Amino acid sequence: MELRAYFEKYPDEATCIEELKDKRLQNGLICRKCGHDAHSFRRTDLKFQCKKCGSRISLRSGTVMENSNLPVRYWMICIELMTLTHKKMSILKIQYLLGHKRYEPIWLMVQKIKLVMRIRDEKYRLRAYSQFDPEFLQKIDKLTLEKKSKKTQL
Ligand SMILES: [Zn+2]
Repeated sequence: MELRAYFEKYPDEATCIEELKDKRLQNGLICRKCGHDAHSFRRTDLKFQCKKCGSRISLRSGTVMENSNLPVRYWMICIELMTLTHKKMSILKIQYLLGHKRYEPIWLMVQKIKLVMRIRDEKYRLRAYSQFDPEFLQKIDKLTLEKKSKKTQL
């Protein structure tokens, strides 16, 4: 697959939100309050709503994208680039391809995806769009911040 194809696959944010929503529903979403597994999706605030008790879960909540302000589109393109291409890509190149001004957020995104891949790969195939438990995500945040501070000290 040519690089261009990845970008054509995810032309805009709306397409990516739809796709992430579908992926999460396919993976199975369990209501934290009542354990029900059927949800509807509210496009107005990007939240899933439990069909039984009405409790809401945000689109990014529990995924590697949680706590990030970057567009879902960046994440999806980046995950594809990192899992489907066998070429090693520099973060600068990814930043350039995405057309993002700042290096830092892209760096952080790549580190998080790498950590999710590495840890999950021990047991499962990568399911970058699946739900991770909050502790795991906190660990990832901590690790990335630690790595980040080490890097800036150098
Ligand atoms: Zn519920």
